Amino acid sequence: MVLDRINYLKDEINRHNYLYYVEDNPSVSDFEYDKLFAELKRLEDEHPLLRTPDSPTQRVGSVSEKFLPYKHKYRLYSLDNTYDYEELEKWYEKIENEYGENTELVCELKIDGLAMALTYEDGIFTRGVTRGDGEYGEDITPNLKTVKAIPLKLFEPVNVDVRGEVYMPKSSFEKLNEENLANGEKLFANPRNAASGSIRQLDSTITAKRDLSIFIYGAVFEDGANTPKTHYDTIMYLKKLGFKINPNIRLCRNIKEVVKYCKEWENKRNNLDYATDGVVIKVNNLTYQEDLGFTSRAPKWATAFKFPAQEASTTLREIELGIGKTGAVTPVAILEPVLLDGSTVSRASLYNFDEIKRLDIRIGDRVLIKKAAEIIPKVIKVIEDDEHFQRPVYVMPKTCPLCNSAIAARGGEVNLYCENPRCSGQIRAKIEYWASKDAMNIDFTGPSIIRQLYEKKLITGAVDLYRLTTDDLMQLDLVKEKSAGNIYNAIQASKTRPLNRLITAFSIRSVGKETAEILAGEFGTIEKLAKADENSLSEINGIGPVMAKDIYEFFHNKKNIKMIKDLKALGVNPAPFATAVSDKLKGRTFVLTGTLQNMTRNQASEKIKQMGGRTSSSVSANTDYLVAGVNPGSKLEKAEKLSVIILNEEEFTNIVKG
Ligand code: NAD
Repeated sequence: MVLDRINYLKDEINRHNYLYYVEDNPSVSDFEYDKLFAELKRLEDEHPLLRTPDSPTQRVGSVSEKFLPYKHKYRLYSLDNTYDYEELEKWYEKIENEYGENTELVCELKIDGLAMALTYEDGIFTRGVTRGDGEYGEDITPNLKTVKAIPLKLFEPVNVDVRGEVYMPKSSFEKLNEENLANGEKLFANPRNAASGSIRQLDSTITAKRDLSIFIYGAVFEDGANTPKTHYDTIMYLKKLGFKINPNIRLCRNIKEVVKYCKEWENKRNNLDYATDGVVIKVNNLTYQEDLGFTSRAPKWATAFKFPAQEASTTLREIELGIGKTGAVTPVAILEPVLLDGSTVSRASLYNFDEIKRLDIRIGDRVLIKKAAEIIPKVIKVIEDDEHFQRPVYVMPKTCPLCNSAIAARGGEVNLYCENPRCSGQIRAKIEYWASKDAMNIDFTGPSIIRQLYEKKLITGAVDLYRLTTDDLMQLDLVKEKSAGNIYNAIQASKTRPLNRLITAFSIRSVGKETAEILAGEFGTIEKLAKADENSLSEINGIGPVMAKDIYEFFHNKKNIKMIKDLKALGVNPAPFATAVSDKLKGRTFVLTGTLQNMTRNQASEKIKQMGGRTSSSVSANTDYLVAGVNPGSKLEKAEKLSVIILNEEEFTNIVKG
């Protein structure tokens, strides 16, 4: 029994290793892989006689036959890992027992890329090899020479073998996939696969076109005498030699500080422009490291704490169709519930019908889903099995699932639309948007409350929100007197939201938040805006002829005229749009990046606008200032290249204060 299970686990893990290391095409999430691996390790620990030298627990990675194998001068290792703080504490207890209380540790982000060994002779880069199986790797020196962050010559003529992780910035990964999609080429599942596929190209001119970088995290020096005595000092010395090291390294005096670091980065990692799947914790003292040594697979002086999984595989039960406020029909994946990043997920985005076709998603397939910062999970690929091709190909709908009207594409767009303005799906989505943070910002009135209000026929449009009484609200599930009062008050408070928010809430086709601000600033009242003709609208800077037509038509539609009249009668009286209170920043364009400590990016953006400035989401030659918070990512690099003035939070605060 146990032997059968062990053999099964070995086969499964070897198969996943091949798909992951050689094909760059994993079919399960890392979390699921780690679970299989941990089970095998546990069974082998319980039955040591069943542990064989060819077991994946005794080995590191895999080498492909694509490149010439190269025998590493110094063996490379993997890392043991845990998802559990208690286990981490136990690991440290053993270290403390050996080397005394408060043995120093170093925390580094675990970069989710590809391990490399780079050799420097007299300070000159001579060879670069992938980790491979730890003993043999792939010699990819010409490719590595195209990675700009790898120095070809160091500041000192040392002989050193460094270890680092080649990665692709998240933004470059997205861009690469967009290009590949447009050219009908293979899409990568995540930045790690993209980095691996790019650096292991047979043609190094292709590698040169890919945006790859590297963080160096370790070294073996040939001339031992003057080399540092701790890991932390080694990293600082590597920096001095000209290597790119990750700035988020921290020296910790005990495990409490380590746990604090891990918890901090569990949230903050999403702000980084590179993928990190955990924290690597290393004993700082190099003599202790030597003393602790290695198992056949990993150092005993280091371990990895892995963040909760952001990818998982599950079965697609069904494809549901949702209707947006513009009538866009969007497919939603209904999934076999699965644990992802600490919560159970049963729905994921499929974006649009082109995506279903591109991924060839069929109901019943096993799919890989992924969650990124604040974004609902997305289906990223189908895990092909024998039955995939026997399942029926998904057929695009021809009619709206709610009102049965025909659905069709609008010129050139990938989305399909239900063109019936009376479609209940569209009306409900419009009310949800009305109450949302982007529009009237009505607290306690999320989609589930709106759905209930609509289904119970207490509202048929956004105007009806202002007719609701607390008694009406108490008809909703789980809404008692207190929450009914909260909802009621929140709705009343929205009556005086600034004019730009009300215009946004109207969901006028082609008019978003920015355009609503332009209109509010230009006209000052709804009455004046409603009277504007198409010509005068299209003369406004930022309003094109299509928008002008949409705006004009909206305000000349009988139903909308009545709605505006009703809103007024119900006491909706928007406050003036807060236009610039000074022109100190007039004509200046700002880009905000990273996390600000004392204000949100939205607040910073409001301040810039109030002083007459503009904000933009990307750095270009027109950017005047980049405000860089913590972990600024690739925008900072781009701003540096374009010589944009970079302000830290304090400098920015002084400008907007003054
Ligand atoms: P690993 O990626 O978990 O950890 C070891 C590696 O971490 C090192 O080789 C190094 O490349 C890297 N690393 C990043 N930052 C580092 C730093 N600051 N200091 C030291 N090392 C750092 O181990 P692995 O052996 O490369 O791969 C095993 C892992 O890969 C599994 O735990 C799993 O997550 C994933 N995997 C997944 C599949 C799959 O099918 N999904 C298959 C095989 C492996």
